[in-house]
Amino acid sequence: MSKDLDILPLQDWLPTGGKPLVIAGPCSAESEQQLLRTAREIATIPDVKIFRAGIWKPRTRPGEFEGVGEEGLKWLEKVKAETGLLTTVEVARPAHVELALKYNVDILWMGARTVVNPFNVQEIADVVKGHDVPLMVKNPLNPDVKLWLGAIERIRAAGLRKIIAIHRGFHYFEKSPYRNAPMWEIPIELKSMLLSIPIIIDPSHICGQRDLLQPVSQKALDLEMDGLMIETHFDPTQALTDAQQQITPKQLDELLGGLIFRRRQGNIDFQNKLESLRTEIDKLDGELLQILAKRMEIIDEIGEYKKENDITILQMKRWAGIIRDRLAIGTHLGLGERFLRTLLNVIHKESLQRQTDIFNKSNGK
Ligand code: PEP
Ligand code: MN
Repeated sequence: MSKDLDILPLQDWLPTGGKPLVIAGPCSAESEQQLLRTAREIATIPDVKIFRAGIWKPRTRPGEFEGVGEEGLKWLEKVKAETGLLTTVEVARPAHVELALKYNVDILWMGARTVVNPFNVQEIADVVKGHDVPLMVKNPLNPDVKLWLGAIERIRAAGLRKIIAIHRGFHYFEKSPYRNAPMWEIPIELKSMLLSIPIIIDPSHICGQRDLLQPVSQKALDLEMDGLMIETHFDPTQALTDAQQQITPKQLDELLGGLIFRRRQGNIDFQNKLESLRTEIDKLDGELLQILAKRMEIIDEIGEYKKENDITILQMKRWAGIIRDRLAIGTHLGLGERFLRTLLNVIHKESLQRQTDIFNKSNGK
């Protein structure tokens, strides 16, 4: 399913200069001094066009710093007047939207904890209706592309056309170096469902720590994402929220300076060569799938045969032999051992599952 909600391209309403959009600013507005000092330093970096700050902070537990509220909006007006940066804040309740508009915030965003709940999203959609205000929609906490899409559809249905999706990673149970797993396939799927949506990446909430910001930002650009939102604080160690992931304006400048902005499209020779290589890949993938299907057919046949002869499904000795043999062949062909083990395990798991299904079916279950 792919559709086009006629969302405006970024360059139609933002001064991007054809470059990826960069949003920077602290996780939270903490004091007038912290906000203005951070903004002044950020304003010296020409690539940064928008200043972010959380005014109302969704905290996991009560008693933690919950943001400065309305007061912070006055500081943001000063930031705008002094630096010329556009401003953006998170809104989670209709009252937040009303206040943000009252104090001339340029762009609103909905956080991951709001987007998980369609009731909340609809309330925000109802209150932005009739305003020509841009709204950015973060992905929901859980990796559910439809929930993300649904939130964008609700906002679009309220009449807004200046909409951006923000990819900030997903809650994930397995151990991972990231605070929120990037699962790049999900923003890519969103883009394929919604052709006109600009997507920017929030490496700060994906990484949860400073060290990974650079490679994740580069990956975002390599995947043709439309921009970055990076939490920046003049003194991150003293930050009241997300201290481990914020960087100084100077570090931000270095990070941006180190990024490689690859061309989206090369010249015609490059395009032709790329096209022919891609055609080859398509063909090989087709063959790979046919071979896998054939392998599974034979697995099913073995399953039937084992069933008829009352032989158990799992034959450890045979499996150990397969691993040894295939690893030797695969590594000889230049494939990595870790990749081979993962691949063989997935194939084995599926084979066992198919044979189990056959056993259950012929038992009349
Ligand atoms: C934030 O941007 O500071 C924030 C709370 O992000 P998220 O909604 O992605 O957790
Ligand atoms: Mn944060």
